[in-house]
Amino acid sequence: MVSPEEIFHAAVLDRGGRFNREQSGDDAIARGFTSLEADAQELIDSARHLNPNLPPIHFDFVYTGVINALAFERQRRLFIGLTTGAFAALRIIFSRMLADSRVMTQRGNSSLEEELEPLAAFSTNAQMMHEAGVQLMRPKCEIRAAFADWLTGQAMMFLIGHEIAHLLHGHIGYLTSLNSSSIHSELDAVRGEAGNVELQALEMDADQRSFISRLGSASLTLDLPNARLPWFPNGIDLAGMVFDVSFAIHSMFRMFGDQAIAGFDLGMRTHPPFALRRAALIITGAMGSDGYGPENLKRVPRPTYRDSAIAAEHAHSIYTGMPPSFGGMNEAFSIYGREHLKKIADLWSTGSLKDRVASFRFD
Ligand SMILES: [Zn+2]
Repeated sequence: MVSPEEIFHAAVLDRGGRFNREQSGDDAIARGFTSLEADAQELIDSARHLNPNLPPIHFDFVYTGVINALAFERQRRLFIGLTTGAFAALRIIFSRMLADSRVMTQRGNSSLEEELEPLAAFSTNAQMMHEAGVQLMRPKCEIRAAFADWLTGQAMMFLIGHEIAHLLHGHIGYLTSLNSSSIHSELDAVRGEAGNVELQALEMDADQRSFISRLGSASLTLDLPNARLPWFPNGIDLAGMVFDVSFAIHSMFRMFGDQAIAGFDLGMRTHPPFALRRAALIITGAMGSDGYGPENLKRVPRPTYRDSAIAAEHAHSIYTGMPPSFGGMNEAFSIYGREHLKKIADLWSTGSLKDRVASFRFD
């Protein structure tokens, strides 16, 4: 009998293969991945608790420097993969952000930090940053260091939640029915491969579910007795926590650039441009403030979602040394961007995609 680990390894061999923690030779690193795996499993279990038809999902790591996440089906089993580079690169970036006195000054004691030089070797590939001599730089304020780890966790839980949504909502079953060896991969599919608006609709759906799930999880924290986050010394502030969740995801998306939308043949891409995805996060969040979603979220002011996107832009500008750029977002909210978002939304409400995917859903 072939183990899920072996099936996983064979499926991702050309992407770096399965990461073998036991042989990593570093206990601290192995522990970090074990704890991340436990968080991922908890997220998967909670999705199954809400949707008992969801079959078991094997979660594992792919050994490569790039930030990426995968979902696929093999031998009637479901798999989610996260790259080791996602953990490493996000940890480097969020730690460095918080180690700078100008970023997120409202969390912890930013006066303990310094103004840092821009990170010349910034890359979305952790291996490349490592080879260029980039070291993990921890914030001096312990609370900011813990906060940086929390932001890293939020970004990764969003990625994993995005893959869970692809499986739960039948996207992977549908794509596997079209091509049995397909592996749904996030960030390497953006390189101008022929795609279509239909695939982008699946991406938007996965983003939306994962973001709502992150917000729901933040709002549930408030209901926990004795819930405490050290960067909220006077008790957890929901709007503040939602701001932070949103900041983490915008920051991750922003690492991939602020590409212009105009001039791109939107129909030729497998994934929506990041600026459109970021705009959709702001719209989804605002819907929560308007009363669609958990009751608690109504208390989060609408501008929280936009302001966190702006804060992510400023943080990005500080660690890269590039001027802030709002071009992509402005375009996303232009008539052109809105038309594309509407086209995607219409595929769900009026197109046959929803029907074709329906029989593969587990919710
Ligand atoms: Zn996706």
